Amino acid sequence: MVKENFMKKEIKFHLGLNLLIAVFITIASYVHIPYGNLKAFSIYFIHFLLLQFSVFGFVYVLSSFKKIFKIVFPILFIILVSISFWVYTQDITIDLGMIQAIVESNIDIAIDVFSLQFLMYLIVSLICLFYYMKKFSKLNSSSIKSPLFLVAILAISTFFLVEKYKYGAFKRKLPYNAYFGIIKYFKKPNLKLKEVKEPVKSKEKNIQIVFVLGESLRADHLSLNGYHRNTNPLLSKKQQIISFSKVYTPLTYTAISVPQILTNNSIYDKNNKAGVSLFSVLQKAGFSTEWIGNQSIEKSYKDIVYTNKSVTIIDKFHSVLSFKKEKDLSLLDNFSIDNTSTKNKISTIHMIGSHWYYNSRFDSRFERFKPITSSKYIGSSTNEELMNSYDNTVLYLDFFLNELIEKLKTSSKKTILIYLSDHGEILGEDGKWFHAQKHQASTNPAMLVWYSDNFRDNYPLKINQLKLKQQDSISTDFLFHSILDISGIENFKYKKEQSIFK
Ligand SMILES: [Zn+2]
Repeated sequence: MVKENFMKKEIKFHLGLNLLIAVFITIASYVHIPYGNLKAFSIYFIHFLLLQFSVFGFVYVLSSFKKIFKIVFPILFIILVSISFWVYTQDITIDLGMIQAIVESNIDIAIDVFSLQFLMYLIVSLICLFYYMKKFSKLNSSSIKSPLFLVAILAISTFFLVEKYKYGAFKRKLPYNAYFGIIKYFKKPNLKLKEVKEPVKSKEKNIQIVFVLGESLRADHLSLNGYHRNTNPLLSKKQQIISFSKVYTPLTYTAISVPQILTNNSIYDKNNKAGVSLFSVLQKAGFSTEWIGNQSIEKSYKDIVYTNKSVTIIDKFHSVLSFKKEKDLSLLDNFSIDNTSTKNKISTIHMIGSHWYYNSRFDSRFERFKPITSSKYIGSSTNEELMNSYDNTVLYLDFFLNELIEKLKTSSKKTILIYLSDHGEILGEDGKWFHAQKHQASTNPAMLVWYSDNFRDNYPLKINQLKLKQQDSISTDFLFHSILDISGIENFKYKKEQSIFK
């Protein structure tokens, strides 16, 4: 009888505690998702219940160590409540970038930390926390002998089972994303960068290279490559554009494709092979180097990005997982033309491009293919809606590149623009969507080259080569060697035969 009473009290306590955690922490990860309809809402509701159940498991096990729980739980709770406020109000992404900002204490640059609402939120949560910690003290300690302990073990297993079934399903949501962000922060990167020791030189002057690193854009959705919809209304009117429709990469997600593209590593190399950053070589040859990105940087290519002299990441606390992510056109506000110097220059513009959730990538002016999706849950959208949303991101890119080219036309330098997407995208082939899974549809990224009058007049032979190679099958290996080739690099070994200008 005593035991039964204790069980009841224990269950009641943990139900209440989990409700507290749900309200102040976990639900924040679910409020910004576009559900669209009841079906999607129900799916995500089950998702939330499973996640909360797994949280219960960890909290219960921790609570059986009574003294530790009394210290550790309030600390974790306050930290997570403070984070969740920004997830609730601004849909920020808790990931490497956020953890880095907290650790290196420059978080206030991006968000107004001490707003009145924040303090209110914190105070209310602290009062609730105090109430539950008092209840906990009165509770005859939970123990491993309690049947609830078995339930807790089952709950913890849920976490690993769900993650095995779908990677990131829980890891990318509160409270787990905070933990995994910290792990990522302290983890050593896979790729080791080699220093450039050679006395590298460039025999060229007054060159401006703009490399636009795209995201999830497959070549066959450009009307420039024969797509049946007019997804390139502006670029198709432009002269001096060459589209390469047969680029190949087997590396179908950002974290592994970007390090390969930006170094002398080949698609056939192991992804932990030490490589040389493209920017290190150019910098050594006297180029000014800048990186302007709209993607929060991932560990796997962070060091490469920072081999640029200047690095600007816009909107860095919103990753692809956020629905309030800044649109790519803002990147151009940070990109300027400098006609005062004849110094060679490379600017890399890293887009969020056509990354899912597609509707977050374009504004209403580009909602031309209709109807678009209204739910993040794919099962609630038709193939047509998904395709329309995706193709609108291609329209947005068309506008983006057109704006960039107009800006580049004001440059007095010999200017060349290379656009390359990091990989393609699976759009319903064999019932699959997105990327990062083995499928041929994500291995053919879009690639374009635009050149200025000045570039054409100085390098007519190179332009001829470009036109001749347009139909060739090439791999993303071409980028490193092509850029060194047009940069006239000497005293550094690279594979000139892989250059699209050779
Ligand atoms: Zn990507």
